[in-house]
Amino acid sequence: MADDADVIVVGGGLAGLVAATEIADAGKRVIVVDQEGEQSLGGQAFWSFGGLFLVDSPEQRRLGIKDSYDLALQDWMGSAGFDRDEDLWPKRWAEAYVAFAAGEKRGWLRAMGHRIFPVVGWAERGGYDAMSHGNSVPRFHVSWGTGPGIIEPFERRARQAQANGRLTFKFRHRVDALSITNGIVDGVSGAILAPDHVERGKSSSRKVVGDFTLRAQAVIVASGGIGGNHDLVRQNWPKRLGAAPKSMISGVPDHVDGRMIGITEAAGARLINRDRMWHYVEGIRNWSPIWPRHGIRILPGPSSMWFDASGKRLPSPLFPGSDTLGQLHYIMSTGYDYSWFVLTQSIIKKEFALSGSEQNPDLTGKSWLMTARRATNKGAPEPVEAFKTHGADFIVRDNLADLVGAMNALSGDNLLKTEHLKLQIEARDREIENPYVKDAQVMNIHNARRYIGDRLIRTAKPHRILDPAHGPLIAVKLNILTRKTLGGFETDLDSRVFGSDGQIMPGLYAAGEAAGFGGGGMHGYRSLEGTFLGGCLFSGRNAGRAAAKAAG
Ligand SMILES: Cc1cc2nc3c(=O)[nH]c(=O)nc-3n(C[C@H](O)[C@H](O)[C@H](O)COP(=O)(O)OP(=O)(O)OC[C@H]3O[C@@H](n4cnc5c(N)ncnc54)[C@H](O)[C@@H]3O)c2cc1C
Repeated sequence: MADDADVIVVGGGLAGLVAATEIADAGKRVIVVDQEGEQSLGGQAFWSFGGLFLVDSPEQRRLGIKDSYDLALQDWMGSAGFDRDEDLWPKRWAEAYVAFAAGEKRGWLRAMGHRIFPVVGWAERGGYDAMSHGNSVPRFHVSWGTGPGIIEPFERRARQAQANGRLTFKFRHRVDALSITNGIVDGVSGAILAPDHVERGKSSSRKVVGDFTLRAQAVIVASGGIGGNHDLVRQNWPKRLGAAPKSMISGVPDHVDGRMIGITEAAGARLINRDRMWHYVEGIRNWSPIWPRHGIRILPGPSSMWFDASGKRLPSPLFPGSDTLGQLHYIMSTGYDYSWFVLTQSIIKKEFALSGSEQNPDLTGKSWLMTARRATNKGAPEPVEAFKTHGADFIVRDNLADLVGAMNALSGDNLLKTEHLKLQIEARDREIENPYVKDAQVMNIHNARRYIGDRLIRTAKPHRILDPAHGPLIAVKLNILTRKTLGGFETDLDSRVFGSDGQIMPGLYAAGEAAGFGGGGMHGYRSLEGTFLGGCLFSGRNAGRAAAKAAG
């Protein structure tokens, strides 16, 4: 039977698009198969904040940040904590990826028209020692145009390749099986789903109207992770984090269903590190949801006070924006699935950002005027104010007693005592007068404000939480929000997949979240943030180039 293309890519998310455009540009024919409709092209990346991990960039240098490959690798290894035999390829991928982030990544994107917002963010700040988790310096570079801004160049290249006949999209084609002939992966088969013009991000119908079979010399699996499938998340939940949360919200659309991971594993591919996942602890229920259980992650600045369900302040260094996995571990140990931020209007105004392209119309719409208001506005950005008004997890009150009463009413657990919170907030407030202090979170705030980017748009001037001049008081109930899959298919640096027998499976490649962003888990246990889109770029590019080269 004649091949339908040289290579088939399963998944039209960022990783699939990058792989497909590399294949087409190498002069080969490629088919991109996706279960969703054309309106969803780009997958999760469309919804993303577009944050990219870059090392020693011109943007960093302009802000006086001294970064280097060695410093970034030290941070990566301290965060990853590789400790398993199967970390061989993930670790090689980590080294190669940090070199990409310190080298070609920015210039490669820039040549395609991608641009970066000039203020570099500081995610996952750690708070331990130099060899432990966290970014020593700000490295989170937001794409101008957020998620859509990162998809744009690849969609453009893909459309050109489509016009010249090298690339074909097969939307509403759901892959249900890989075909293997004489030990070589050489195609896919599955169901044709009924056309559905549902809005991007909403769940589309799974009504089957036909079936299909496609043949090629190779298949690249770029089908994303498992974050939209809570059953799979619970099934893979690591014992070291205690029991899986009873209640979670979803940071990803329904199509992140993990189904293709099971299909590929059943065909013989080796899935490793499936117990490593990256879920957030600052999830809020979206008052205007797009997908089921839609939650948004707050990207917090350093000043909010963080309390567990019983009203005990989270221990140092578990401050907002320091250590996502450490916070998840702590929160799960409390026996409750939620925690609380307590803050002021002055803090929310400067420090709350919401992760998601649709929550940042200024950056997504590439409006300098609107973006400049982040530094000058009297209120918080409009989407944050909208959450404050309509969000089910937000409480706004003029005094602490009323705030705590409303917090108890919202959780229904009645665990909080006003006096207990007051004692802890007042103790912290007494530390705020001096620039040299004992309270580690307050020290952290002073540290942040020494970085011009934070002082400009991310860290409120230190003030007493209970000072009415900075009010009203705000409490936010924080939920666990599923997002990323850190484990995946074990691959070599050409993104070729290993089989369960430890041998490369000829014809099979994996990229993006399905490959644990490369190698089967290049992040190890933790991410430095902005590393997922970049992981799709790097692993998609490697997969595309290698598959094109291998295609005769
Ligand atoms: C709100 C939000 C904010 C984010 N912010 C950032 C950020 O700032 N920085 C960062 O680095 N990362 C961020 N991320 C993460 C990042 O966007 C994702 O990890 C990444 O885009 C995953 O890309 P992918 O191509 O691997 O998978 P996906 O985008 O999930 O694409 C996979 C595609 O495969 C298709 N598919 C799946 N199974 C099948 C099948 N059986 N048959 C056919 N098609 C199938 C799906 O329909 C989908 O279109 C964010 C994610 C979200 C949701």
